[in-house]
Amino acid sequence: MNKFYITTAIDYTNDTIHVGHAFQKILADVLARYNRAKLGKENVFFLTGTDEYGQKVEKAAIEAGVSAKEFVDKIAKSDQKQQDALNISYDRFIRTTDSDHQKVAQEIWKRVEKSGDIYLGDFRGLYCPGCEAYYTEQDLIGGKCPFHPTLEIKLITEKNFFFKWSKYQIFLIDHIEKNPYFVFPQNRRQEILAFAKTGIQDIPISRTSFTWGIPVPNHSGHFEYVWFDALTNYLTGVGFLEDPKKFKKFWPADIHILGKDNLRWHALLWPAMLKSAGIELPKTILVNGFLSLNGQKISKSIGNIIRPTDWVTKYSTDTVRYYLLRYTTTISDSDISEEKLKIAYNADLANGLGNLVARVAKLCEQNNINTSNAVNEFDPMMTKFLEDYKFNEALNHIWEEITVADKKINEEKPWELTGEKLTQVLEDLVKKIQHITFNLQPFLPQTAEKILKQFSGQIKSQPPLFPRI
Ligand SMILES: [Zn+2]
Repeated sequence: MNKFYITTAIDYTNDTIHVGHAFQKILADVLARYNRAKLGKENVFFLTGTDEYGQKVEKAAIEAGVSAKEFVDKIAKSDQKQQDALNISYDRFIRTTDSDHQKVAQEIWKRVEKSGDIYLGDFRGLYCPGCEAYYTEQDLIGGKCPFHPTLEIKLITEKNFFFKWSKYQIFLIDHIEKNPYFVFPQNRRQEILAFAKTGIQDIPISRTSFTWGIPVPNHSGHFEYVWFDALTNYLTGVGFLEDPKKFKKFWPADIHILGKDNLRWHALLWPAMLKSAGIELPKTILVNGFLSLNGQKISKSIGNIIRPTDWVTKYSTDTVRYYLLRYTTTISDSDISEEKLKIAYNADLANGLGNLVARVAKLCEQNNINTSNAVNEFDPMMTKFLEDYKFNEALNHIWEEITVADKKINEEKPWELTGEKLTQVLEDLVKKIQHITFNLQPFLPQTAEKILKQFSGQIKSQPPLFPRI
């Protein structure tokens, strides 16, 4: 059956998401919208949300002088507001504190335990409080976490439950080797394969040092390690326990999109957990690049955090979506700036798309052109770019068509034509605009809707889509 299930990383609730996190949500949204247009709305499920348990949240709540639940309620609400500002069309915003999720996380624990893959042991390990993850000596750079160079790595000793991750080493290597698109892009696939080959060690999956977590079934005082709980959200999202029919329809996930810092957990831990629990593996793990701002990492300590709402309020939802999709690459790191966003706005949206639409609408209004929308299929080039996750190239292609249409107007000079020839030229231009707009829908949904409405029935001039700034 043709269905599409896409998930994003669920964001950790120690702070509200910034534009770097939001970038990934936009990428997922484009794929969800594109697939809805192709497969029908009912055959697509798009999951995003928040990861709310763990010591880091507990600590942040204590510092803020509120309970952990009050703390995550506030952040989850504000994350959702950020995603809504970008018109992210998720079907569910999952929170790992949702009651159905707790049941799923515990059910997976029980299944893995039943497979004989959980044992009690003594743990001594190097722990990064930023990642909430353990590292080995060779993972660290100068004794520090590669993602949190300012945080101290802690040496932790605890009596914990362990997951027999090592048991799945051969299975994982084999699966990644046999399935060239299980991890995308290829350089990430090679990286994770090389890591798996150096050896996978069992990891502790329970904690006793704090209480803000999902209780381990039948072992009071133990709480599930945040990754072991969080990964199972992808099952909860499509009704693993609550709605078997829905689960059967959507699982396995077609795409888990996530940042490179989450790769190891998704490409190695998650499939091992699923294998142990007797559940089919997801199809593709798509690793997106990171954004930097004006050449710097986006971070609280640098003080350069931009929230999506900061830019959306100033420039509109579709402007932010457009800029982040056209002037980045999906799979490698990209640098962004507000200055470049403004340039893109004036050159591509105000002068490019906006101007073309206004010109053609005016000519049509003057000549009484009436039309119905004849375009209902994606350009094959767009399909190719979208299926290769090349969103910037897809938009380059659309903007080439805008340039061609502009050139056509200048060459054919409809204002000098009359009669049948004039009608023909205008009808061709209308069709061209409808084609461009149909293909724009996954990227700039609000703008596309406005244009499609304007170019159906009696065509009239409208206020500019993107007034110059
Ligand atoms: Zn870290």
